[in-house]
Amino acid sequence: MSELETIIGIDLGTTNSLAATVLEHGPEALRPPGAEAIMPSVLSRSGQGWLVGAAAREERTRSPETTVYSVKRLMGRDAEYLADEIARLHYRVEPAMRGLVRVRIGEETFTPQELSAELLREIKRRSEEALGHPVAKAVITVPAYFDDSQRQATRDAGRIAGLDVVRIINEPTAAAIAYGLDQKKSGLVAVYDLGGGTFDISLLSLSGKVFKVLSTHGDTHLGGDDFDRLLAEELRQRVLAEHPGAELDSPLAAALLLKTAELLKIDLSRALETGYELDLPGQGLRASGRMTREELNELIAPLVERTLDSARQALKAAGKSAEEVQDVVMVGGSSRVPLVREEVERFFGRRPNISINPDEVVAVGAAIQGHLLAGGRRDFLLLDVIPLSLGLETLGGTFSKLIMGNTTLPAQAGELFTTHVDNQTGVDVNIYQGEREFVKDCRSLGRFRLKGLPPMPAGLPRINVSFEVDANGILTVSAREERSGTEASIEVIPSHGLTGEEIDRIMEDSYEHAMDDLNERQMVEFRNMADAVFRGIEKAWEDAERMLSSEATGMIRQQMDKVRQVAQGSDPLALKREMDLLGRMTQPLADAIISKAALTELRKFYEDTGSGPESG
Ligand code: ADP
Ligand code: MG
Repeated sequence: MSELETIIGIDLGTTNSLAATVLEHGPEALRPPGAEAIMPSVLSRSGQGWLVGAAAREERTRSPETTVYSVKRLMGRDAEYLADEIARLHYRVEPAMRGLVRVRIGEETFTPQELSAELLREIKRRSEEALGHPVAKAVITVPAYFDDSQRQATRDAGRIAGLDVVRIINEPTAAAIAYGLDQKKSGLVAVYDLGGGTFDISLLSLSGKVFKVLSTHGDTHLGGDDFDRLLAEELRQRVLAEHPGAELDSPLAAALLLKTAELLKIDLSRALETGYELDLPGQGLRASGRMTREELNELIAPLVERTLDSARQALKAAGKSAEEVQDVVMVGGSSRVPLVREEVERFFGRRPNISINPDEVVAVGAAIQGHLLAGGRRDFLLLDVIPLSLGLETLGGTFSKLIMGNTTLPAQAGELFTTHVDNQTGVDVNIYQGEREFVKDCRSLGRFRLKGLPPMPAGLPRINVSFEVDANGILTVSAREERSGTEASIEVIPSHGLTGEEIDRIMEDSYEHAMDDLNERQMVEFRNMADAVFRGIEKAWEDAERMLSSEATGMIRQQMDKVRQVAQGSDPLALKREMDLLGRMTQPLADAIISKAALTELRKFYEDTGSGPESG
């Protein structure tokens, strides 16, 4: 294998990052001589440059304002969304162009992409040091719930760091690849990944050498950091009880409390009880005490329970039960917490798999994927899923799904639409993501306009809108009017993304409102249909009077009034019944009339139940 063919795997974590590669003897995390494989995802500004990794992490306590951590939480997200997050961070985050954010350090500001790029640059450097040759290509992992803009931001960070990002894959999926290596059995696998800042659970089916992700669920705001925060708060209370005058709310004191809490937590993964010591030299304050694993368990139990709620959701989405899961894979540093292991074991009724280092398993899986892409052994195929349905806005604000949630990647779908106004020369394509029936309840992903349509009667244009989600989960939408060949030159600027929590909420909402939505949506669709039919009938009215008896035309008029009346109500089935009756009455007319335009309208009623994108 030539040097340039090396594709390393990078786990770009919220808390820690590392790289791995496949060597002659198998996959291995990359350790520069004398250093650890794991590098804290922390940056500290020092003069015109950066301290990166462990050295920067030390600075987090010493100079919180110039030390940046958890950058991953900021990737591809906008200021409004991040408000709560920003309030908790110890460095400054400011709103920037297009709703995005920049991190301020003194006079300078940096985008999350640039900051992530610094981490990647350091990972690249360390990898080159470990391997002894240059590295140009990488597979980078992201949480399963990263949406389009977050994946794009990650890709951009790689590019800024001088890496060719050949593939972006989901972290749980990477872990599954790592465990799937040399295991040739079939079954259902759950990957439980609890890191510092994110939680993901994925269900994968393994059959022969083929992995398929059945469902994913999670929470991008749940992890070991939250354990630390709870423990830090507990420490704060204890210190305050002992030293009522202590000033523990400064950034420095807060960071110190967090650091102490984390060490305590890690100790308690091994020991049942341990001591702590807090030094605040500025205040001449020294506090110490003891903490038991029981006490820690009590604090974090609700958070652990939340991860199990996610597990339930993932099982539900896959239509599986916990008993059907044959293998449970533990990933992420926080999966070392004994309570987490115990609860996961209890939930699935089986001992979780911890044979691969939970810190390294994601990078190892990414490295194997990279190796495969470089042309190495290709023993298995991998499929990820789209977390929420993708589609576009159609007449009356309805959400027309083109790609359903939990569809495996890559995915492609197309649908034909038409116009509903004569001589319309442009249509707007509004792209949404969600599970509800109306776009007002979904998340907008972007929009574009197909312009320059030649004037045609309504219903004549054939507008093919196609959605394509590539293997990285990135969406491209295009539109083409088939008769004229007009194509939209589109740029979908994805708006900021969804968290696992949001996805939960959206899913729950969609269950709760499923019936309401469906009725309302059907009413809108049938009303639109009735309008189209009425227009057709009016256009053909002269022909109708000539061809049909006055009794027949009178009945049609009567039935039209009836349809109008029922259309005011809220019973879609009643409306459908009246429409069908009107359809039967106008059938002879439809068969006989020659007016092309009217035929088009009527055909719309008989053949085509879809309606067109919003006119404009
Ligand atoms: P991320 O994927 O978010 O980068 P990691 O998988 O590296 O995170 O996990 C980091 C988290 O794991 C931190 O919250 C850290 O405190 C925690 N952690 C690491 N080792 C242990 C341990 N032995 N016991 C408990 N928590 C641990
Ligand atoms: Mg991780």
